[in-house]
Amino acid sequence: MSAPTYPSIAIVDIPGKGKGVVAREPIRRGTRIIAEEPRIRVPHYQDRRQALDLKSLSDADLKFFLTFPCEDGMDPVRGRLRHLIPCVGAPDEASALFETVCRMNHTCYSPLGRPNALYTWVEERKEENIAENEEITVGYIQAKTHVMDPFTLLRQQWGFDCRCAGCQRPLAERLESVERVQAFNVHTREVPDRMERNSGYWPLDILDDIERNLLAICAEGYVWEISGCAHDAFQLCAFYGDGASAARWEVLAREVHRVIHGVDHEFEKSAKLVARPTGFRQWKALVLGKAQKLRGPSQKVLSCFKQAVMTSNPIKCSNHECSKTEEGSVKFRRCKSCLDTLGLDVYYCSGECQIADWKSGHKSICGKAVKV
Ligand SMILES: [Zn+2]
Ligand SMILES: [Zn+2]
Ligand SMILES: [Zn+2]
Repeated sequence: MSAPTYPSIAIVDIPGKGKGVVAREPIRRGTRIIAEEPRIRVPHYQDRRQALDLKSLSDADLKFFLTFPCEDGMDPVRGRLRHLIPCVGAPDEASALFETVCRMNHTCYSPLGRPNALYTWVEERKEENIAENEEITVGYIQAKTHVMDPFTLLRQQWGFDCRCAGCQRPLAERLESVERVQAFNVHTREVPDRMERNSGYWPLDILDDIERNLLAICAEGYVWEISGCAHDAFQLCAFYGDGASAARWEVLAREVHRVIHGVDHEFEKSAKLVARPTGFRQWKALVLGKAQKLRGPSQKVLSCFKQAVMTSNPIKCSNHECSKTEEGSVKFRRCKSCLDTLGLDVYYCSGECQIADWKSGHKSICGKAVKV
């Protein structure tokens, strides 16, 4: 395999924000932006009191360290260590200052907007299409940590005033968002208990709740949470032996994973569940006697999913070897089985590309392959 190539980006001065990172070419959704080695490692990040020994740094690293902003009155080391990011798989739970990734500024997830990129541990990945010279931003706050007004939290933890569209709303509205995100977090934690046989909840009611939560969290900008919600719904359908509905849910989880992380081990696992829901470890775990028919995602959820995850502007051919996009009046064909069975749009510029993609793997994940 050839070494991965990454799009051209640059660290520049951003008025009012200090440094920031911008794209030097248009970047398409789903592209890996960067993977980089840590520059200054700090072990045992969890213990925030442990400060960095500046004397241990080389002159160049010390200079680099001091380029990070620190407010007046703050401890000059700890103030700068607020920019640390966890290192992937570090046995000493190290965090680090990275040369480029730590320069990416923040945008809040909110009903009015969201960041255009996302940390996926090793790499930054594009969430939206990014135009040339557009600033690349990530979210320092995720649904799980969205437990108070982001504007206040950002000022406390990172020492800046967020000027994103979400933070310009009146405080009361921002607090309503906090409540909705919290309600989502609580629901997500409770779902496994609700699925227990003697919980007193009907499976169709649980599905309704999952859907309501999925739509609510997407409305708050956290569209990637679709994945977890959809997998919960998959499990529920699998517990009751409804493979067709289970597959339709899992395909949402699978596609979210593909857009964020690409085709990796986790994607393969998810694709296997789509193709053969009966392979799920606890298949039919809750069935007494006859399996129960539940349901797949509603039209509302599907259109939310398509809008959040599948739209790429313009539409691209699904054959990875092909870079054609739908332009003008020529409409791309769609895979019929994927559309009919899973409600999923899979586009091809031509029959040749559809055949090539089929041979190179679509065969195993195509809607037609669902076996229940
Ligand atoms: Zn904000
Ligand atoms: Zn093509
Ligand atoms: Zn297909």
